[in-house]
Amino acid sequence: MKLFHTISGNFAVNTYYLVVGNDAIVIDGGVDGEEVLSYARTNGFTVKYMLLTHTHFDHATSAKYLQDNGVKIVVSALEADGLQDDDLNASNYFGLKFEHLTPDITFNDGEVLDLLGLKIKCIITPGHSKGSSCFIVDNLLFSGDTLFNEGVGRFDLKGGSGRALLTSLKRLLALDFNYTVYPGHGEATSIEHEKIYNPYV
Ligand SMILES: [Zn+2]
Repeated sequence: MKLFHTISGNFAVNTYYLVVGNDAIVIDGGVDGEEVLSYARTNGFTVKYMLLTHTHFDHATSAKYLQDNGVKIVVSALEADGLQDDDLNASNYFGLKFEHLTPDITFNDGEVLDLLGLKIKCIITPGHSKGSSCFIVDNLLFSGDTLFNEGVGRFDLKGGSGRALLTSLKRLLALDFNYTVYPGHGEATSIEHEKIYNPYV
C-alpha cells in the first residue's frame, strides 16, 4: 500500500489516498469530488471507495459527486444521517450547500472492513460528531477530527459532546500500539506523542 496526501478547501482538510496497485481508497475527500478524481487520474489510480471519518461538510461534501462517479461511500451507521441532515453535517451553520446521499456501506464499532485486500479496523469515537470514526490500517491510524496533533476537534456543533470526546480520546490513547496518527486537519503525530503532549489528556 502507498499513502498519498493532499490538503484542500477553506478549512484545509487532509485527504488521504490508500493506493493498492491501480486502485485507491480515499479517506475524507473534502469538498470537491472533481478535484479528488482528477488527482487520482494524474497519479494513475482509480478511486473505488471513500471512507468518511465523519459527515461534516468540509470532509464530506465531495461524497455525492464521487458516488455519482462510481465510488462507494463508507461511513459509520451512527453518522450516516449526517449525509442527509444539514445541521449534522454543519453546512447550515456555515451557510453552504451539501448534496444529500445514502451511503453504500455502513459499519459499527470494532468492525473490520476488507477493501482492496486491506483490513481496515473501524473504531467509533463520538464527540466531535455523534458517530465520528477512526480507521486503523497496518500501523496507521486515521483520526478525523477526534484527535489532532496536540489537540482535539471542536465539540460544540450539532451531535458533538465534550464528555464523549474525552472518552474517545482516552480510548485512542489507550491503544496498545504506537500508531502514526493522520488527523483530519494539521500535521501527523503518534499515539505516544499525544499521551505526553495532548493538553486534553
Ligand atoms: Zn468536523
